[in-house]
Amino acid sequence: MRIANLSGRLTLVIGNTAVDVEKASDGEFSADPQAVYDQWESFCRWVNQAELPLGDPFDQDQLGSPAPAPRQVLAIGLNYSEHAAESGFAVPTSEPPVFTKFSSCIVGPRGEITLPPGGHTDWEVELVAVIGRYAFGVPEAEALSYVAGYAVGQDLSERTLQMAATPPQFSLGKSLPGFGPIGPWLVTLDEFDDPNDLELGCAIDGEQVQLGRTSGLIFSVPALISKLSATLPLLPGDVIFTGTPSGVGLGRSPQRWLQAGEELVSNIQGIGELRHRFVTAKEA
Ligand code: ZN
Repeated sequence: MRIANLSGRLTLVIGNTAVDVEKASDGEFSADPQAVYDQWESFCRWVNQAELPLGDPFDQDQLGSPAPAPRQVLAIGLNYSEHAAESGFAVPTSEPPVFTKFSSCIVGPRGEITLPPGGHTDWEVELVAVIGRYAFGVPEAEALSYVAGYAVGQDLSERTLQMAATPPQFSLGKSLPGFGPIGPWLVTLDEFDDPNDLELGCAIDGEQVQLGRTSGLIFSVPALISKLSATLPLLPGDVIFTGTPSGVGLGRSPQRWLQAGEELVSNIQGIGELRHRFVTAKEA
């Protein structure tokens, strides 16, 4: 199953067509894309039984984030060994470094993102997991059953702001408006041959800059859910950015940052792609 946020409304994506959930369910499920995670199990039951109408063609430019307003966003640093090395850090062994992206930074899979003046804005393609039911103290072996699905994410990072304080302020530097794209839709785990081994990458104006596989995660998605839920409850609709593979601009020689006019395309095998163009702030 694929669910999307089409013009702000919860939508099932079937092939190249869209079915509006509120209309198809006669109002049993609301149009609010974020609300579905609070009823995730009954929603999945309904989808499996429903006689769905034929879908309508849709414009991908109208897609928003499939989890537009999570109560919590957890993000993981240094979760691929080559990325830890390019960042100048040791590979974490017992505990993953955790920060947040404040939820106001979340946007959809298409559109323009404004670069802050004087900044050094970097790219980080990441697998995003969205939580489908309350998870607290979850053992690793059961952890994937708490996931509603996966999406593509970009953990866009303003390195100047990130490094402006000591210790570095990851959360602030990664939460500028538009710095948390998620999409193009949410894909449930039954759609993947192996949900623990997906190719992910991104390209700037067609030049591949990152390419990895989620099998290279130091802390896998089940390990992350187990670790995080040992400390705090993960709530339905919460978002986890699981970390980025190597190839970010920070780790290059010379370093490279996103420039106005460039297009960043981020993709994960079996999910789809994000497509964003960067612009400079408009003069006041
Ligand atoms: Zn990241």
